[in-house]
Amino acid sequence: DFDVLVVGGGPAGAAASIYAARKGLNTGIVAERFGGQVADTVGIENFISVQYTEGPKLVNSLEAHVREYNVDIMNNQRAVKLSKADKIQLELQNGAVLKSKTLILSPGARWREMNVPGEQEYRGKGVAYCPHCDGPLFKGKKVAVIGGGNSGIEAAIDLAGIVEHVTVLEFAAELRADAVLVKKANSMVNITIITEAQSTEVTGDGTRVTGINYTDRKTGDAHHIELAGIFVQIGLVPNTEWLRGAVELSPRGEIIVDERGQTSVPGVFAAGDATTAPYKQIIIAMGSGANAALGAFDYMIRH
Ligand code: FAD
Repeated sequence: DFDVLVVGGGPAGAAASIYAARKGLNTGIVAERFGGQVADTVGIENFISVQYTEGPKLVNSLEAHVREYNVDIMNNQRAVKLSKADKIQLELQNGAVLKSKTLILSPGARWREMNVPGEQEYRGKGVAYCPHCDGPLFKGKKVAVIGGGNSGIEAAIDLAGIVEHVTVLEFAAELRADAVLVKKANSMVNITIITEAQSTEVTGDGTRVTGINYTDRKTGDAHHIELAGIFVQIGLVPNTEWLRGAVELSPRGEIIVDERGQTSVPGVFAAGDATTAPYKQIIIAMGSGANAALGAFDYMIRH
């Protein structure tokens, strides 16, 4: 039995397990894939105090740091069910049931993809998902933002301050973003918004993105825009489907946490991109993992 069991081996889970182990607690970590989204990241320039690193390199140091402590790492294991009797029980896909006094959920999230040709091929070579991370790489260049919801329009406004020009492509006839954001975007001279646009293909020269093809859904006409970058902003989906009914989730499926990372279930904490924390970044996920582990420790010494 564990004192603290962590679900997720991304930055949030890694930080949580180190903080828990440093309190002398018997700690385990269950991860479908250690490293999480960081393993899919090319350049990282905003992990403060490290000017530049790359995803796989950061994943290696995360794992090395966790291995400094006596943490039971169960990699390539998927958690499928959470329940609580006298202890918290976590069921894995392989049928095993782990028991723990406290649990920290950090299963992260995944970007919704366009699913068009070229998107995978040029991921990290012009196709990007995070304007805070990759915006500065396109300084002075032309980019597109796919999606006219709040995250898409926020991204367009953000990028417009850095890049030469931003084209927003929205599938529907209307933007779904808040009116105040739409007004702001419309007031910026280097943002063009195109509605009823269905993205059909990311084009490239074999090494980098060169543009995007889309169909005008009103007329059926095909168009091409030359670009250096494409920011896909059509949703970040938390990996919490398996937690429905077990802990309280927001309408978007994010785990609802308080300032100590406590969820609706006493003894169950959560951290990182899977939670209602508004901004999804490595450094924020790590901070929230540390926070949740301290929350779990506080809970343990009182129960
Ligand atoms: P994740 O990193 O998503 O990790 C989740 C973990 O949980 C994984 O180990 C996963 O396998 C595991 N898991 C999920 N479900 C289960 C389950 N049921 N059972 C067991 N394990 C499970 N942020 C920055 O700060 N700077 C950047 O430059 C940057 N670039 C990015 C580039 C890309 C392409 C992407 C996709 C993201 C980028 N981000 C960047 C965002 C950053 O990666 C995330 O904010 C961060 O990884 C979130 O950490 P997390 O631990 O909450 O979740």
